[in-house]
Amino acid sequence: MPIAPGSTLGILGGGQLGRMTALAARTLGYKVHALDPDPDCPARSVLDRCLVASFDDVAQAAELASQCDVVTLEIEKISTEALAAAARLAPVRPSADVLAMVQDRGVQKSWLSSNGFPVGPFREVATSAQLLEATRAMGGACFVKSCVGGYDGKGQLRLSGGASPGEGDAGSEAAALFGSLGGQRCVVEQALDLEAELSVLVARSPSGKLAVYPPALNHHRDQILDWSLLPGPLSASVTGQAVQIALDLAVGLRVEGLLVVELFLLRDGRLLINELAPRPHNSYHASEVACATSQFEQAVRAVCDLPLGSTEVVRPAAIVNLLGDVWMDGASPAFEAALEIPGVRLHLYGKRIARPGRKMGHLSATGRTPEEALVAAKLAMARLSSHAGLPLPGR
Ligand code: ADP
Ligand code: MG
Repeated sequence: MPIAPGSTLGILGGGQLGRMTALAARTLGYKVHALDPDPDCPARSVLDRCLVASFDDVAQAAELASQCDVVTLEIEKISTEALAAAARLAPVRPSADVLAMVQDRGVQKSWLSSNGFPVGPFREVATSAQLLEATRAMGGACFVKSCVGGYDGKGQLRLSGGASPGEGDAGSEAAALFGSLGGQRCVVEQALDLEAELSVLVARSPSGKLAVYPPALNHHRDQILDWSLLPGPLSASVTGQAVQIALDLAVGLRVEGLLVVELFLLRDGRLLINELAPRPHNSYHASEVACATSQFEQAVRAVCDLPLGSTEVVRPAAIVNLLGDVWMDGASPAFEAALEIPGVRLHLYGKRIARPGRKMGHLSATGRTPEEALVAAKLAMARLSSHAGLPLPGR
């Protein structure tokens, strides 16, 4: 049954993804409530009601659901108890089952491999001794990622293999490493030889309708998304395989809402799944300017069981992330200089405090090709710092 415009949407999480989802929901005529531990969360100013509570607050999750016609989420770290409490009072999309599988890297990787989906070599470890053994077994560079709680490269470390520490030191180094990741379960993954990173967004409505977007091509720096192109300039074969994997996952998991699949294209041509996210995703921010339907509107349509929107790319686009580092030299970024470039738009998330590596916003640009859009977005990015404090050209 569709949840018609005019109804109330609840969002667990009020970060930038919640904010942009709320804005899209408002455009469609919904009222929006959200729950977030931060009273100054990015979504706050665009909500009808903001509940300030932690993501494991069962009573407040129930309070949110009691006032909403449907509840969705924008972050994985919602406790399953809170989700279950909400689900007793309103439909929760995606479901607690999907979230439970996705929110733990170890569970997710095991689920993917045991269901026949392609993933790289990995091992789950629960002690520093197992960590040491696993890194040795990988036999080269590897990534160690905590099973719960990591994001934007946090909660993970890249180990460069090669230089083998002295036998006596290896155990204590492993213990220190394990401790630095919180002393909790981790996955150890072989560092893969990447040709490219891509992602695919698929929407699935409760009635089973599907809509898939063309893959985005993503570039990371220091394990954080730096820029992204839509559509990703990829071969027809890679595009076809990636889209099929995403559709198979959405159907197999019976996802209600969005599912984003992050993929690695290896230099040997293989396509492997990196990780899943059952929510809007940074790598599809370009859909707001590139596509007939943005990922945020699509999320609302999917969780409200409305007809899914067209995923057609109307005009290729690129985004470049604005991290807190851009604010770090004390000067305010020269947004005017960036906005002079034709086709460039500024998207700020309303975060008051800039920290290195913190996602504060992004710049988007359109172009005749995705590459042309990226040139414009990067030029805009370069102008932010190089023009700070300088008069604008022609003034
Ligand atoms: P996050 O949850 O922070 O996005 P990811 O597991 O996606 O964590 O890792 C972030 C980035 O680190 C990836 O997009 C990729 O650039 C790099 N990375 C992670 N795991 C591997 C790997 N096994 N091999 C090569 N690069 C990796
Ligand atoms: Mg990732």
